[in-house]
Amino acid sequence: MKRSEFLKKCVVLTAGSLIAGQSMARQITGPAVPGAVEPVAAGKLDGLSGLSGQADAATAAETVTILYTNDTHARLDPFPDNAVEYAGLGGISRRATLVKKIRRGSPHTLLLDAGDVFQGTPWFNVFGGEKDLKLMSQMGYDAICLGNHEFDNGLDGFADVAPAADFPILCANYRVDGTPMAPFVEPFIVREVAGLRFGIFGLGIRLDGVVRPELYGDVEYLDPVRWARGMAESLRGYHRCDYIICLSHLGYHYDDERIDDRKLASQTNGIDLVIGGHTHTFMDQPEAIRTPDGNSTLVTQAGHSGINLGRVDLQFDEFGRISQTLAHQYTIGARDHVAG
Ligand SMILES: [Zn+2]
Repeated sequence: MKRSEFLKKCVVLTAGSLIAGQSMARQITGPAVPGAVEPVAAGKLDGLSGLSGQADAATAAETVTILYTNDTHARLDPFPDNAVEYAGLGGISRRATLVKKIRRGSPHTLLLDAGDVFQGTPWFNVFGGEKDLKLMSQMGYDAICLGNHEFDNGLDGFADVAPAADFPILCANYRVDGTPMAPFVEPFIVREVAGLRFGIFGLGIRLDGVVRPELYGDVEYLDPVRWARGMAESLRGYHRCDYIICLSHLGYHYDDERIDDRKLASQTNGIDLVIGGHTHTFMDQPEAIRTPDGNSTLVTQAGHSGINLGRVDLQFDEFGRISQTLAHQYTIGARDHVAG
């Protein structure tokens, strides 16, 4: 898809410094950009409208594109044509083709995944996740976080195949010291893209009740909100990051007291974007959640099984502030997006 076509299809989430840009605005001072697109009315946090007509009006100095998946679940092949649901959709090679096309138009791109790469098809039963990690490495994934199914072959099973990932596997709220996972899991990374610093950290779900205890062994689950607050603070302060992304496998929303991405965002300052997983939630566009300090965090997820590829474009002005945030979900295998 050409960039102009993408712009027509996508949803404009913010303009000016309404949402994700606010955290940037705290750091960078400078005059308002002349000719910037009018912000979406302040306070209209849950009414993010699709202002596709305005997308072309933005003049950005630089665009950074964030692409993401979650819960790909060993679905390397597309769903069969006779599948009851999702017939013919997905497939890792078509995803790779789409990512390549997008990168051609958007050279400053991050490719991320929010966990549960493992389990779901015979590819996992036979190769234990190694093929998935290899192919994701070839595709140029920048980072993924740990999902609960990454424990399905135990800690040794994970350690056997983890070297196939030539990208970092993130989780800030599991204590993995002294376990076979330790060499392969990091809390966060900092990536410089288009001269801007992106802090990316991972959060995992409570293991008790979700993963059998013998599979997670001595890995210890720690309070995700506490660790997210610490991460956001240290990435923004000590590591001087301009934009903070949380890869979360907590789940998008639960009606009970279990922590989820929406609750996390409402209790934590400083995160710009939560890319979630676990609940297999298809979302047309990210949801903006108000943070305790009155800013907001975008929360998104891209379904499951590699059916969708999520995309968020951040347009930065010449002062390094976000002038516009655009979002789109590609359905892989759907005719308008990418051919086989
Ligand atoms: Zn999961």
